[in-house]
Amino acid sequence: MNRRLGLLLLLVAFLPGCSGGVGFRVRPTCPGPDGCGRVAPLPAETTQVEARRPLEPVIDTLPLAPIPRSHPRVGVLRGRGSLSIGTATTGFVVHDARLPVRGRHHRILDTQAVRGLICGTDELVEGVQRAAASVARARPGALLTVGNVGRCGGGDIRWSVSHNSGRDIDLGFYLLGPDGRQHVPDDLVALDGNGEAVDRDVRVRFDPARNWLMVRAFLTDPDLSVQWMFVSRDLRRILLDHAAASGEPAELVSRAAEVLAQPARSRPHNDHFHVRIYCAPDDRMEGCQDIGSNRSWYRDSSARVDARMQELMRLSRSRDPAIRRDAAIVLGRMGRDSGAARLVAMLRDRDLQVARSAAGALAELGIGSVRGQVVRELVAHPDDQVAFLLFAALKSVPRPARVRVLQDLLSHDRPLLADLDVFQWVQPIRDVALDQLCRLEGRRAPVRLIEALRRPGVDVVAVDARLRELTGVDPDTAAVADPVAAWTNWWNARKGGL
Ligand SMILES: [Zn+2]
Repeated sequence: MNRRLGLLLLLVAFLPGCSGGVGFRVRPTCPGPDGCGRVAPLPAETTQVEARRPLEPVIDTLPLAPIPRSHPRVGVLRGRGSLSIGTATTGFVVHDARLPVRGRHHRILDTQAVRGLICGTDELVEGVQRAAASVARARPGALLTVGNVGRCGGGDIRWSVSHNSGRDIDLGFYLLGPDGRQHVPDDLVALDGNGEAVDRDVRVRFDPARNWLMVRAFLTDPDLSVQWMFVSRDLRRILLDHAAASGEPAELVSRAAEVLAQPARSRPHNDHFHVRIYCAPDDRMEGCQDIGSNRSWYRDSSARVDARMQELMRLSRSRDPAIRRDAAIVLGRMGRDSGAARLVAMLRDRDLQVARSAAGALAELGIGSVRGQVVRELVAHPDDQVAFLLFAALKSVPRPARVRVLQDLLSHDRPLLADLDVFQWVQPIRDVALDQLCRLEGRRAPVRLIEALRRPGVDVVAVDARLRELTGVDPDTAAVADPVAAWTNWWNARKGGL
């Protein structure tokens, strides 16, 4: 992503969750006694998505716009073609492939085509077309219906918690009409326990033969490694019975039994298969991460990933700052703790762009193992952009600990300058922390601020002012003399204690 656009999105992420302010804004007064939560409640889902990918632009009109992604190609062990980065639930895709809406042997259903969810990795997009062609070779004319693939560029979509990293695809069932020929529906059709349904007044049923051919095509494709084919329990049984009755090799049937499953905490998948493939071996070198069960055919590449980590560590010490910068970005995507320690050291690189890359990489990787060092750098680092990026990195810290970190930061009044060419604004660390605390805690923000008032070194005047703004309350005319007691009394009277 364009660096300046990235920074703009980062700063937009800092725009206040409740009423806290940035320099160019006129401070509104929050009405009502319920404070911040009442003024701008954050729906749970938004909070969750924010925690997953803080920089994600949210554009909801259909078809969903592609999200531009970039990833540096650095080193010898690097990946090729499309890259699936991160996990199926939190990742994204670089240089993804588009599945044509209509192909010779497949069709993306209208509802899903309108969403623009047509992108995935090369391996997935090519693999599904090979599977559809394979079914059509055995049963001429067979047409595979396709539901959601992924957003172009990957990332979160509102129809599923996964499909983020280009390795998930929803496939409609091959259905038979009353005449025994394939029935092609307009949308996914939910089938009953016998595999039957009525679609637009036509009685239809699950076609064990064609659906099995499709499953078999995926499982026997040498260029793909399948992790899951989610489908309802009843349809799974029909498929496996069909495979065994048609004399398929026992080894193949047992592999099918391994991948076909009704998911435990999700809809039963009685209207589509959800296929997930494993990371391509070369994508693992850039940060593709498999999560969940491993199949008997899973190829463990941890030795190669270890070698890649060593290569990246070496490149992070290159004499060429451009290489150090790229190595930092990839280290941030590899998901390894060992990368975090190196990235913290890179925050003090003599080249500022390298330091900023390292800070951005920490925001992607998470800072679980290096939290203390990151907070110290956030306060002390001479570059304000690094400090902003490290604020973004705090989003990976679990909530209770993050509240404490933000409360601690209320005692720091160093001004941070955000320079976006078009405009600049200045905000002390304390105010950025106030905004984040507000955003994170919602309705509980006042109590967190009252707790913070008791901490040594906290700017009482600033926190008192923010509390008045959040709650619309003037607790006591004597509050300026002893705001801690005044706010504590106010809260106790209102809530029956802290
Ligand atoms: Zn799905």
